[in-house]
Amino acid sequence: MNILELSATEIASKIAARELSSREVTAFFLERIDTLDSKVVAFTSRNAQALQQADEVDRKIQAGELSGALAGVPLAIKDVLCTPEMPTTCGSQMLKNFTAPYTATAVQKILDAGMVVLGKTNMDEFAMGGSTETSVFGPTHNPWDLNRTAGGSSGGSAAALAAGMAPISIGSDTGGSVRQPAAFCGVCGLKPTYGRVSRFGLVAFASSLDQVGCFAHHSSDLAATLQVIAGFDNRDSTSVNAEVFDYSASLGDSLLPLKVGIIREHLENEALDPDVRAAVAKTQDCLRELGAEIIEVELPHTNYSVPAYYVVAPCEASGNLSRYDGVHYGFRQLGETEDQPLESMIAASRSEGFGAEVKRRIMLGTFALSEGYSDAYYKKALRVRRLIARDYQQAFEKVDVLLGPTTPTPPYELGEKVGDPVQMYLGDLFTVGANLAGLPGLSLPAGMTEAGLPLAVQLQGRSMGEAKLLQVAHQLQRAGLFVPQVACVA
Ligand code: GLN
Repeated sequence: MNILELSATEIASKIAARELSSREVTAFFLERIDTLDSKVVAFTSRNAQALQQADEVDRKIQAGELSGALAGVPLAIKDVLCTPEMPTTCGSQMLKNFTAPYTATAVQKILDAGMVVLGKTNMDEFAMGGSTETSVFGPTHNPWDLNRTAGGSSGGSAAALAAGMAPISIGSDTGGSVRQPAAFCGVCGLKPTYGRVSRFGLVAFASSLDQVGCFAHHSSDLAATLQVIAGFDNRDSTSVNAEVFDYSASLGDSLLPLKVGIIREHLENEALDPDVRAAVAKTQDCLRELGAEIIEVELPHTNYSVPAYYVVAPCEASGNLSRYDGVHYGFRQLGETEDQPLESMIAASRSEGFGAEVKRRIMLGTFALSEGYSDAYYKKALRVRRLIARDYQQAFEKVDVLLGPTTPTPPYELGEKVGDPVQMYLGDLFTVGANLAGLPGLSLPAGMTEAGLPLAVQLQGRSMGEAKLLQVAHQLQRAGLFVPQVACVA
């Protein structure tokens, strides 16, 4: 049996039927990590207890104490979620030796569902970036072409799947960090509605935008994973207190009537690569064949979304990152000024503990919030955010889901944009809107370029409309839009 050909829920069924054990599957993926990760660099640490935990899960399943759609399935978790058994580094020097004292709610739910953590995955430092090149562990390489970026900031989680080093993974998405690496690595990635998954134990970047999301090859596996991690949590004050939908049960329901909105501003954008545009057109045709009605819609403030995001996110980040002072957590460097030992220790710890992109955001955010400037920048960005949310609201009066590109281009080369922050930020053009409006978004593989690089499309939905997105994605995959594949890492 080739485990790589099975979906995560198929793996779980075989474990339940005792055709496979969690230990066998876990050992299989650990071995793939051992063989391939020196080239891909998707992991920051491995779980030394994984096999013992798999044994315990096998025992519970056999004793009838544990069941569930993903029981026994191993997975990889972005190194931004707190796990006391492994370090939680956020890809930063600041937290390189940090081990969290508690477990993030999303991770706890995963453990309770009988899933086994293989390891933690690489990311842009503090989730700031779009290429996983700002990690203190070095860049993650795209399994489809090792000279290219895997996307970011959850690049490790996406690359782990593309290289067949895990069947499921978890990421976080503040402005596109699940959807964009999913697109670059040829896997499915879901960012749920803001508040659908608890942020407790998710290291904060921009709290009004951050959301935990998941990756899988099959949309049906995304549904099963969301089922596990979603839900109200009284330890996260922005968690939504609404019942969790049965996402898996509705996957095969009739889609019709279905109105799909094509976003004019996204498709007319000059930055859009012709191959990506063609992938959207192909998906549109496939949806039409499935009986959907295609309607052109407008999101008129699209071009303001990147500027608004790059004010709001750094403002929140500058506050969230003030906790890293060399006193409370992580890295400490004693300063050289003896008459002011505390101040100089804080300055030295922050100067050496943070990388260039993180410092850029802290400075941008501190400036935009400063006396005399906050009206001109921060408050104005909040007003733009409101307009963007209203654009979506108006679009969803006409259609059920929106279809467009996830990223302007297929994956680019490592080093190509990391020295040019503005170019890097413009790569977020199609993803940040959903975060500013708090809406769910799903990136779905939609073919390959001639050079063998993944192409993707993005579906966006109404607030709490994950079930519809998953259903559309599932039926597109079932209709053969793109057959899930694992890259052959040479
Ligand atoms: N690329 C965006 C940024 O750099 C989004 C990151 C994210 O979603 N965490 O902020």
